[in-house]
Amino acid sequence: MNKVSLNTQILLGTLLGVVLGLWFAQLGQASSITQTGLYTAKLVGTLFIDLLQMVLIPLVFTSIVVGVANLRSHQQMNRVWRGTLIFFASTMAIAVVLGLTTANLLQPGGGLQIAMFQDAMQGFQATQMSLPDFFAHFLHSLFQNPIAALAQSNVLAVVIFALLLGIALVVGGERYRNILILMQEFLELILMLVGWIMRLAPFGIMALLLQLVATQDTSLLTTLIKFVAIVMGTLLLHGVVVLPLILYLITGMTPLKFWLGAREALITAFATSSSAATLPVTLRCAEQHLHVKRDVAGFVIPLGATMNMDGTALYEAVAALFIANLVGIELSFVQQMVVFLTAMLAAIGAPGIPSAGMVTMVVVLQSVGLPVEAIAILLPVDRVLDTFRTMVNVEGDLVGSLVVQKWIKQDQSDE
Ligand code: ASP
Repeated sequence: MNKVSLNTQILLGTLLGVVLGLWFAQLGQASSITQTGLYTAKLVGTLFIDLLQMVLIPLVFTSIVVGVANLRSHQQMNRVWRGTLIFFASTMAIAVVLGLTTANLLQPGGGLQIAMFQDAMQGFQATQMSLPDFFAHFLHSLFQNPIAALAQSNVLAVVIFALLLGIALVVGGERYRNILILMQEFLELILMLVGWIMRLAPFGIMALLLQLVATQDTSLLTTLIKFVAIVMGTLLLHGVVVLPLILYLITGMTPLKFWLGAREALITAFATSSSAATLPVTLRCAEQHLHVKRDVAGFVIPLGATMNMDGTALYEAVAALFIANLVGIELSFVQQMVVFLTAMLAAIGAPGIPSAGMVTMVVVLQSVGLPVEAIAILLPVDRVLDTFRTMVNVEGDLVGSLVVQKWIKQDQSDE
């Protein structure tokens, strides 16, 4: 099976998933065809995600260790670090500013009243977490016994441990060459497994999309249509205009070339709503299709999958303003600055799993005194919006790897 045909199959799977989902939705949940269809889709979709998660932790671990260790000279390591963090922070900041601007201009939730959502809110119990608590929890989760972190799939803690081990390999130099070779070979093997799993991608994606379309509650979707449209529109603006423009200005790569190389990862992100589950595919796209060097991709992409979430940051900002409108509170400029900061922090702290942004949004709402229970209003539309924001999150990681690669090349040629 060659690359082109896999891509075509994934596109076909996407279309078929949506069409079948619509058909099942029309037949209704009671129909036996729908039930059998949904059951099969659940099996296949879960299998696909399980397989991706099976390779996730070994992949993150080895790719970061190898990525860092290969950035041999300290100077190069500093450059990659700096470039990556600057890129992540600035693109997330742009995303939040976009979100705040459109929400201020278009005022989602203006015509709705919170009383309409009383039922939804009553059944909702939010875990109370203030900003200091969130920060302490976040910091605590960074450092963990590596075996526990690997076993519990705590991606962030695995990333941190792998970073440290990679740095130790650089500092230790020749003496630990064998360990580095072992890691490199292990990484190769895991990537081979990823290649096999990708053959299932067209079916997995079809199954996941089918379930999403068939089980979506459309009545609430229409009530919240303005909010949904604003979030999607702004995400599109960021994903289709801002990120490709940054990419073009810095690297000269055209959007078309980028999308052709990135589409497997973007569609998988859309279907799984999880940057972490998509990571094996993202890494494959970066290296094989977009030709990012393994050292750079192996560092930027896994870190980005847990930290760099433009889509989530944007969503949290729009959602906070939406809820403020619903409860009739006007947020001052200073309060909006607080939303700006906490939305970024909440996005960085959100793990790359479905609906994670929803959970960390508690922090944003609490920071400006908005009722946390109001999150319940967003729950029915969260799944749909999660697909788009995860796609933008993953796109940001891929653009980041290309930009950082360009930056270090430029620095090298300046010397
Ligand atoms: N699902 C998103 C991701 O994995 C996180 C979120 O809920 O916003 O990137």
